[in-house]
Amino acid sequence: MLTSICGINWGDEGKGRMVDLLSSDFDIVCRYQGGNNAGHTVINEKGKFILNLLPSGILREDVVNVMGNGMVIDIKHLSGEMEKLRSQGIKITPENLKISDKAVITMPYNVLQDCLEEDRLAGKKFGSTRRGIAPVYADKFMKKAFRMGELLNFDRLCKRIDDIVEWKNLSVVNGYNAAPVTTQEIVDYFKTYGEPLKDYICDVGVYLNEQNKAGKKIMFEAQLGALRDIDFGIYPYTSSSSTIAAYAPIGAGVPNLQIDNSIGIMRAYSSCVGEGPFTCEYFGEKAEKLREAGGEYGAATGRPRRVGPFDVPASRYGIRCQGANEIALTKLDVLSGYEELEVCVAYELNGKELTEFPFTDVLDDCKPVFKTVKGWNCDISKCRKKEDLPQEALDYIAYIEKACDCYIKYVSVGAEREAYIVME
Ligand code: GDP
Ligand code: MG
Repeated sequence: MLTSICGINWGDEGKGRMVDLLSSDFDIVCRYQGGNNAGHTVINEKGKFILNLLPSGILREDVVNVMGNGMVIDIKHLSGEMEKLRSQGIKITPENLKISDKAVITMPYNVLQDCLEEDRLAGKKFGSTRRGIAPVYADKFMKKAFRMGELLNFDRLCKRIDDIVEWKNLSVVNGYNAAPVTTQEIVDYFKTYGEPLKDYICDVGVYLNEQNKAGKKIMFEAQLGALRDIDFGIYPYTSSSSTIAAYAPIGAGVPNLQIDNSIGIMRAYSSCVGEGPFTCEYFGEKAEKLREAGGEYGAATGRPRRVGPFDVPASRYGIRCQGANEIALTKLDVLSGYEELEVCVAYELNGKELTEFPFTDVLDDCKPVFKTVKGWNCDISKCRKKEDLPQEALDYIAYIEKACDCYIKYVSVGAEREAYIVME
């Protein structure tokens, strides 16, 4: 059985938190795209963890974790993340972590390129996390990247470095006037951070197919939401990879398999980190209040997130892109301090109401249409059953289900593992 856990919105929907919860029913958790630009926060009985590269299943002892070919892996960052988790008592061995030989390595010069380009853009920047993600995906498609499997044949790998370094310096030195990349620093980098990972690298496709045949339950964990997908998101203010559930089997290493279940993680209100059109955005005091209530600061970067009310056109689009047959609505508790709640029900463009999410350029001219619904203005963070929720909260959930034509199966009312309700 293959399940995908994906984001419906602009990211930070609480995917890490839901994967941590739902992974109790799974044998394997795979990350299938992105790199250490991800920031998944998990709070459970072992403590508080922020995961950038490792799948969130790493926190459960009986779950095997896979880092798929769709990922880009900063091996220095990974070694730091593994060390940090181990110091928090988490076991990580080749038994419970398998890294695809086809995953691409994020290089120090990719991080440098990312920073150089953001600095060049200055005021017009895209809001990159400066972790080299766009440059390394560009290298992948230029067929100039290094892959994890190459670390298993070091001599052969070293023979490729000179040529790549020469090519890279064409832009780093000649384009950006920065100090040149050297072959030696790359060799040292692979030796220091790549060699210790050798035992974890394998053909994860073989492993996953075997496990699938044996009836094991496999979960795919996305980083970022539908609206940051390279094809379907608000391009160019997107990530550089496919965050879409349909890509999960490909990015994980099993293009021959299809997902049985797509669980979309959707926020009870909107948040967005970085640049790009965000039609439902709140400003001033309204934004402050919601940002504070939701603790909206990026897990990977600490940047304050932009916030707004629940956005129907964007969420409906996200649900469609993800093919989500079940929804987990997160952070509902954050909306507790309101007598009345606003919902963005449509976008207005030149006097007309749009109900479908439009092309990115069109978004710039769209204004939000807000509708007011009743709030509940009482603490719901201790609710554990549907019956515990106040009627106004149930009405809010039902309203979203109808407006987005979806099935909300889970409602999350807190960051802790047990703070959720199954809506059956
Ligand atoms: P991800 O990138 O989708 O995994 O989400 P992040 O971890 O970046 O951001 C979600 C934030 O909301 C984290 O700080 C979580 O601890 C927190 N969180 C998740 N679910 C809930 C919830 O239901 N209520 C509250 N109050 N916080 C939540
Ligand atoms: Mg996040």
